[in-house]
Amino acid sequence: MTANSSDTVRLISADWLIDGTGQDAIPRGAVAVRGERIAAAGHATELAARFPEAERLHFSGHAIIPGLVDSHVHLTFSAGAVPLEDVQGDGDVTVGLRGAINARDALLAGVTTLRDLGGRDRTTLELRNAIAAGAIPGPRLLVCGRPITTPNGHCHFLGGVAQGVTEVTALSRVLVEEGVDVIKVMATGGNMTVTSDPLKAQFSREEMAAIVGVANAARLRVTAHARGIEGIRVAAEANVHGIEHCRMEVAEGEWKFDDELARQLADKGIFAAPTLAASYRAFQRQAAGGKVGIRKGAIPFATRQQNAARLREAGIRVVVGTDAGASLARFDEAVHVELESLVGAGWTPVEAIAAGTLGSATAIDRDKEVGSLQAGKLADLVVVRGNPARSISAVRQVQAVFLGGRQVASGGHATLDARPTPWPEDQIAKRTVYRSTDVGPRAPRR
Ligand SMILES: [Zn+2]
Repeated sequence: MTANSSDTVRLISADWLIDGTGQDAIPRGAVAVRGERIAAAGHATELAARFPEAERLHFSGHAIIPGLVDSHVHLTFSAGAVPLEDVQGDGDVTVGLRGAINARDALLAGVTTLRDLGGRDRTTLELRNAIAAGAIPGPRLLVCGRPITTPNGHCHFLGGVAQGVTEVTALSRVLVEEGVDVIKVMATGGNMTVTSDPLKAQFSREEMAAIVGVANAARLRVTAHARGIEGIRVAAEANVHGIEHCRMEVAEGEWKFDDELARQLADKGIFAAPTLAASYRAFQRQAAGGKVGIRKGAIPFATRQQNAARLREAGIRVVVGTDAGASLARFDEAVHVELESLVGAGWTPVEAIAAGTLGSATAIDRDKEVGSLQAGKLADLVVVRGNPARSISAVRQVQAVFLGGRQVASGGHATLDARPTPWPEDQIAKRTVYRSTDVGPRAPRR
């Protein structure tokens, strides 16, 4: 791809175009790209007439979809059988290199925006800044830094421990000061922290409300890891913006969908990411007799899919978050597994793509900039072989990835000579030299 002068229009076309809004695929669709933004998207013949001087790039037998948005990942986790043990045991260099490789893998898989929901200390802030500075390739990255949790609570070893209203308020303020993009709170225990209980709420309503208060004042969102009903309810009553997992567990291995709680989430417009891709492969390995970090009595995968479908039926905005980095949830396929799992749970392929593009972009508060192929948005697009509106697994066949109008991947290879600029120039904190220890300030808000 040649360098883009700001007034040259390039017309990228394919046999199908899926715009991310949930509308049907357009046959012979195209996206007109000017600089880093989309000038127009629609039927190829109309756009060709409108931009007669445009450079043309056609992908025969392919489809164009928006860059995928994964609202829940752990960039510095190993996606091994016991990722939490790995992240506790590994040194800083290993953690950082793993994050860099995972970021590149996600980009090659067609993910152009990632939200990291938990890493050790400041590692994910450093990664975000390194990508924003162009030091390493990767998707646009939003990070929570370390999640807020209780002493010995879920992921306490990541460094975000607090208890009581005074402490959680202070920690929330420190995170804001450090430049996080979102606050993540562990509302219940989790699978692989043996000292935590996924069924119990970790924080009181007062503590949760204090965290949400600090975030709202800083115009940041709060999303809560919550599996059991009790923790989901505390988080919902404190008006968090999103619930991760949202599994509606009531006892070990027992799932009971709570209609009233679901109605509360729907009424408040709280997003839910069922994270189906998390541990999908782990279940497969377990079924084959292999060792993985799944507790006894885990809720079966089909039940989790059923739970996701019920969340959507209740009117909750269900979005794509994969938990990539968790047990065997690899960055080179987690988002594809999530889309396939949603289709398995009753979404149409086009609906699943909408959940993983405009839906997840809305959940992370970036829908003004990314998530759909609409004029004015950043030109993040993915070209895949085949028609994913017919068979969702076509999203696995990534032919090209464009990030802000620049082609950053081709035929499964990163084009490292043209390093991406993840956010528009005016949104990147001004700096002349990149240092790995430089962790703030975050890009100014729109
Ligand atoms: Zn997670």
